[in-house]
Amino acid sequence: MARLAGDQPWVAPFRSVTSDLLVVRAIDATLGVEGLPQSGTGQATLFTGVNCAERVGRHFGPYPHSTTHDILRDHNLFRRVEDASMPVNGQTHAATFANAYPDGFFDWVSGRGRWTVTTFAAVETGLSIRGSEKLARGAAVAANITGEGWPDPDPGIGPISETEAASNVLRLHRRHRLTLFEYYLTDKAGHGRLEVPAESVIVDRFLGAILDGLDASEDTLIVTSDHGNIEDLGQKQHTRHPVPFVAWGYGASHFGNVETLQDVTPAIQRLLSRTESDT
Ligand SMILES: [Zn+2]
Repeated sequence: MARLAGDQPWVAPFRSVTSDLLVVRAIDATLGVEGLPQSGTGQATLFTGVNCAERVGRHFGPYPHSTTHDILRDHNLFRRVEDASMPVNGQTHAATFANAYPDGFFDWVSGRGRWTVTTFAAVETGLSIRGSEKLARGAAVAANITGEGWPDPDPGIGPISETEAASNVLRLHRRHRLTLFEYYLTDKAGHGRLEVPAESVIVDRFLGAILDGLDASEDTLIVTSDHGNIEDLGQKQHTRHPVPFVAWGYGASHFGNVETLQDVTPAIQRLLSRTESDT
């Protein structure tokens, strides 16, 4: 993680770095709205470029607020990438969502459950949500990276190493213009809902293996968060702290003006539109 942030630890004060191949900074997650940031509005803002906390009038979560469904449907990152890019390597879609979900998630959603921001955006864009079968083939990644404790019995599923999980992400990345992976154990640890030490959910090896497998002259890796939480273990709620933002590699210079969650998706879209017109 230090390597990703320009040789510094991920603690305040987070030194800004701006170079051709690396942009590192702390960005705002409060969106000009009082109260503690929540995932429903934070993620919807991060993945649409529209300030959804402002639209709802408060921070809301963890699921998307009904007044943001239309924005999330029409302006989400997957949709923007699909509109800006052609699929590559014989795929149907230019964008993909790498996370796998267990059978129980699909049962819950088809019952009275709700899609999360990310799954809602993927489904509304026509992308399929990966399940156990894809995870078993290494064509998806478990939310906890290693797949340890995966609820569906399948001899092909985990636990695998963080390095192997990174290889699986990289394989998806080579077949798509945008590959999104969502990691939320840091949030669960920050809420005190895990039985393991908070430090153990910091996936340093996974990120290291991703970096090892990328080529800075043609790939771009973006890492950020929808709100603070785990950085303050003295309390169990989200925080109003700024969140880390890293853009590493080929497209980093397109992210030099990112100041808040709202700026991330438009910058990704600009990068992809530019790249598409060059190829
Ligand atoms: Zn949370």
